[in-house]
Amino acid sequence: MKKIQLILLMSLGAGIAACSSEEAPQDAAVVESTEPASAAVLEPAGGNTTAEQASKEIAGDYMRGIVVEISDDRYEGRGPGSRGDDAARAYLAERMEELGLEPGGEDGSWEQPFDLVGVNASQPDEWTFEGHGNSMTLKQWDQFIVGSGVQETRSEISDAEVVFVGYGIQAPEYEWDDYKDVDLEGKVLLMMNNDPDWDPELFGGDTRLWYGRWDYKYLSAARQGAAGAIIIHTSPSAGYPFQVVQTSWTGVQFELPAGDEPRSQVNSWVTEDTARDLVAMAGLDLDELREAAYNRDFKPVPLGVTTSLGMDVDVTRVKSANILGLIHGSDPELKDEVVVYTAHHDHLGIGTPNEDGDVIYNGAMDNATGVAQVMAIAKAIKALPKAPRRSILINLVGAEEQGLLGSEYYAANPTFAPGKIAANLNYDGGNIWGHTHDVTFVGLGKSTVDEIVTLIAGEQGRVVKPDQFADKGYFYRSDQFSFAKIGVPAMYLDTGTDFVDRPPEWGREQQNHYTEVNYHQPTDEYSPSWTFDGMVDDALLGYWTGLAIANADEKPTWVPGDEFEAARIEALKALEE
Ligand SMILES: [Zn+2]
Repeated sequence: MKKIQLILLMSLGAGIAACSSEEAPQDAAVVESTEPASAAVLEPAGGNTTAEQASKEIAGDYMRGIVVEISDDRYEGRGPGSRGDDAARAYLAERMEELGLEPGGEDGSWEQPFDLVGVNASQPDEWTFEGHGNSMTLKQWDQFIVGSGVQETRSEISDAEVVFVGYGIQAPEYEWDDYKDVDLEGKVLLMMNNDPDWDPELFGGDTRLWYGRWDYKYLSAARQGAAGAIIIHTSPSAGYPFQVVQTSWTGVQFELPAGDEPRSQVNSWVTEDTARDLVAMAGLDLDELREAAYNRDFKPVPLGVTTSLGMDVDVTRVKSANILGLIHGSDPELKDEVVVYTAHHDHLGIGTPNEDGDVIYNGAMDNATGVAQVMAIAKAIKALPKAPRRSILINLVGAEEQGLLGSEYYAANPTFAPGKIAANLNYDGGNIWGHTHDVTFVGLGKSTVDEIVTLIAGEQGRVVKPDQFADKGYFYRSDQFSFAKIGVPAMYLDTGTDFVDRPPEWGREQQNHYTEVNYHQPTDEYSPSWTFDGMVDDALLGYWTGLAIANADEKPTWVPGDEFEAARIEALKALEE
């Protein structure tokens, strides 16, 4: 018999037996066992259905049904506030009711509604820059994409000077400040994407931190009082090709209603070649500027080039909602705590036609598959003869594609106090290619959720790997980030790369192909060729992980020193007040 570390799933009454190891301390989170975990974990503890039997509810056909339905053209790509969005939410609430979940919103509602402000800037055909006796006119779409930074009917910059600011990062913990107290009020900041990635001690090495994301860049520019920001696109620094910028940043951009945070007038992207030409107007070389920016001593470089741009902006208000389904915990002491499963139900809606004239961005993989996995997990948990000790919240969030807005709204208006949320388990995108020897855990190394996931994956005969595309910053690109920001330890499972009976590079090839061809394009459509085997495995992993967390005596914790630990300490302290 193999000797393994067994995460304690004891005193559950949920159909999962504790390990039988005599010397195991009853309150330890991890105990030694000489039994295979599967036997010890799964041994029935009473009732006529074990957790293992309940887990059989996680079935490919159930998931396929949900994916086929909400990625159908009838749902028009589920753009926030659209009729497709309304229809998808109604459909998902019905499925939750059918599973026997309880409405998790206020006043017995399935929905947690929120307002969205739709900002649609009229994209000017051209954008002109002048300086050093020269003038350069850029072409919209091919060279630049622009958006309004303000929720007003007009956004405008006039005669603003362009200043190259390197990464545009201020990070005291890395003693990094690209601005060096230079007055950037009213300027247009030309910025590099990503964060410093050549030194493992700096900004997580080649792991992209929030500092490397466009939402940070724009906020950072606004904090300087800048009139505008221009991010230089390169595929490696963005993690996706310029066509994703083109399709994601044109049309209506949704935001939560503006608060008192600083905002620039104009946020934009240019291609790398365009940026090269722009700095060449100042007699400078982009590569040399970037080289300088790889250094803590870097200072902003004014280009002596000015620009004006005015856009009419169509501002609309719509409503969307998170769909909340609840399973009440069975332990009177712990039922006011919760494990939250999330998957975003929205996608991009109707947009720019592709080559085939298709205008519906179906979002089948992104994220009908995530929704389907979470619903299948809910179905299995509901099939347990006794609920887990802590409550379970199924939270299908909206407006993720617009910048994690639904989960951000939930995090600001949580139905459980942040300190009572034991963990967030998020699904965004499913494995449509088959069984894997591995599974990707985006955010591995950040919290004690790692141990649980690693053990359970081991029982599945799989190894847990950290984000295989760490440079793309996936931890900050889906809804677990909203939970992490309020201190909740989070797991985001993603497709493995080592496929059973496939050559080693096959998995990466499939995923890179998806990113290049289908990601955020009208071709992200369901195909009958998809297999749900991998999704079943990944949903099972999330099911067992959620049960282990919901039934443990103690909640998971962040690794000491993690970027989100301080928020957790604050959230736990707030419970005592
Ligand atoms: Zn997604």
